[in-house]
Amino acid sequence: MNLEYPITYINGVSVQRAALLYTELGIKTCNDLLNFFPFRYIDKTAFYAIKDLQPNSSEVQIVGRITRVKSVAQTRGSRLVATFQDATGTMELVWFKGQKWIKDALKINEPYVVYGKLNHYNGNFSIPHPELELVTEYKKKLQTKMQPVYHSTEKLINSGISNKLMRGYVQNVFQQFFETITESLSLEVIEDFKLMSKRDALINAHFPKSQENLAKAEYRLKFEELFFIQLQLLRKKLINKTKNKGYIFENVGAVFNKFYAEKLPFDLTNAQKRVLKEVRKDVASGAHMNRLLQGDVGSGKTIVAILSMLLAIDNGFQATIMAPTEILANQHFIAVSELVAGMNLKVDILTGSVKIKKRREIHKNLEDGTLHILVGTHALIEDKVQFKNLGIAIIDEQHRFGVKQRAKLWAKNELPPHILVMTATPIPRTLAMSVYGDLDISVIDELPPGRKEVKTVHRFDSNRLSVFKFIRDEIDKGRQIYLVYPLIEESEAMDYKDLMDGYESVSREFPSPKYQISILHGKMKPADKEFEMQRFVKGETQIMVATTVIEVGVNVPNASVMIIESSERFGLSQLHQLRGRVGRGADQSYCILLSSYKLSAEAKTRLKTMVETTDGFKIAEVDLKLRGPGNIMGTQQSGVLNLKIADVVKDTKILVHARNTAISILQEDGNLSNEGNLPIKNAYIKMTKSSKIWSNIS
Ligand code: ADP
Ligand code: MG
Repeated sequence: MNLEYPITYINGVSVQRAALLYTELGIKTCNDLLNFFPFRYIDKTAFYAIKDLQPNSSEVQIVGRITRVKSVAQTRGSRLVATFQDATGTMELVWFKGQKWIKDALKINEPYVVYGKLNHYNGNFSIPHPELELVTEYKKKLQTKMQPVYHSTEKLINSGISNKLMRGYVQNVFQQFFETITESLSLEVIEDFKLMSKRDALINAHFPKSQENLAKAEYRLKFEELFFIQLQLLRKKLINKTKNKGYIFENVGAVFNKFYAEKLPFDLTNAQKRVLKEVRKDVASGAHMNRLLQGDVGSGKTIVAILSMLLAIDNGFQATIMAPTEILANQHFIAVSELVAGMNLKVDILTGSVKIKKRREIHKNLEDGTLHILVGTHALIEDKVQFKNLGIAIIDEQHRFGVKQRAKLWAKNELPPHILVMTATPIPRTLAMSVYGDLDISVIDELPPGRKEVKTVHRFDSNRLSVFKFIRDEIDKGRQIYLVYPLIEESEAMDYKDLMDGYESVSREFPSPKYQISILHGKMKPADKEFEMQRFVKGETQIMVATTVIEVGVNVPNASVMIIESSERFGLSQLHQLRGRVGRGADQSYCILLSSYKLSAEAKTRLKTMVETTDGFKIAEVDLKLRGPGNIMGTQQSGVLNLKIADVVKDTKILVHARNTAISILQEDGNLSNEGNLPIKNAYIKMTKSSKIWSNIS
């Protein structure tokens, strides 16, 4: 007998009920049930006397006897009413459903323990649909002071699987399977952190003896859950480091040095230098690099990418950089081409709109090695694209790419190319530990010098005229303006109309020929988008009216004003990304958040946060608190959402303990072969077998 047995082995669980518990709650095995934790507890320590009941008492427990039962006709159907009394007074128990069955089951004049939500009407107390138990039965049960309440569903309740029944099932698991619950942490860890044993923790999580015991039980179980996740991520990283060989870029050669000495248009910031060092160390180590580069918008990730690619070229390899949109790919292509001009390097671009003939040429140049750097979109992971020797792949704005796509890049060589994924969506550190715990993480936490912080204000729609005046003044100073409209998928048609209406009113407000306006939205053909983009880049237009297609990565340093319409409809990370489009040049930049007066509490917090800070990590923290981890980019595939008891937002302290513990254990005993670590090893193996642990993410 073991905990992996299906729940039909639990006394009282029929095949039908087991099936329901599976479809409704995903509970299949006894272990699943043990790890299905209550979401609250009812304190049943107190018993009330009827005379002490108060109109505002909520849930009460009373001992007494039923003296009579009758059906009472009412407007629709009838209700069953039992008169219930103790030594101090009389009240009623009432049922609207299942009357026949209940009536037959009720025993007159026998002592019952009654529990339920108290109603007070016309000076009389009643409990509708109470929980009832004969005192003789009540005394037989394993009594605990606090009773668990489990999440349920309508289907379960309608099928008679009440909370009481669930409680019974869990009790039965403990009674039948107690001996098979084994410790999963080492004695050392348990002692170091003064943790409860596994058995005690499980019992106290379901049937706590006291609030203190509950807290200890929860701590232990959260620790354990986070510990095993970290253990897995860290082991994967370790294996990646020791087993997965990578190409070795030994030399910093002519190409890199020439670029650094002659082409680099500015001094690198210290943060950029540090990251570059981290990359160089990785690619020289003989192991495969799998690095995440986090850096706020405008922090200068691109130059780090370019320098990393030059390292590959110096060592006889090709390099590629993949972007999520054609606009971005084009921008990278232009930037890279300009920067390496005169260096005898061949750079090309491959996107969905590249014509067949050109495409063939690119394929050929890739295969014979004459092409050094390929910039592109998803198009470059098509099967037909074969590199001669791809040494490094840079993935920009990583959150737009799925796991499979990353894996596809790997498949192209004899060894996987080094991978550098770059993201401007800062992830709070503790979340990153869970989501990217198996990657190495670099952070650019410093903006290039001379950047002025973007001044951000929130204005209501009624201030529009003064906003327009502000735009005029800025344009007179030679600046350019973004005007962004929301794009929300469910109502694309409506958003499109908003955009067009907005475009019209802006055109009226800013008439040609004095003002030229670009427009950019998702429905346009790539070539048209690129055309409009280039007009703006060249300064031929002063205003860019757009949807969020410009959110990612667009770089026009002369654009210094970002106006966001209906800003209350944007998420925080989107707002932050949008604001990152300005503040790229030497001029003071501005971000104006326009909204209606009707704002939800959350929207208020979002706008306030934007006004108060430009720090992407702070913004990410707020975002995480507002929306939970489920909506943060990159978490979907990671499993942080399937946690049974821990919470990556609230339990960050435990997470840090768990991670550090996992690190020190793996440092000493990478294969968990020490005697003392046996419990950990066994639990770990069990979890990987039943795939309770997350699948790979990179
Ligand atoms: P992001 O990290 O958002 O991709 P970019 O790489 O596009 O940022 O850089 C933003 C702007 O900052 C670019 O115009 C780039 O040329 C400039 N830049 C990057 N690094 C520096 C630096 N060390 N000094 C001055 N300007 C820099
Ligand atoms: Mg970028």
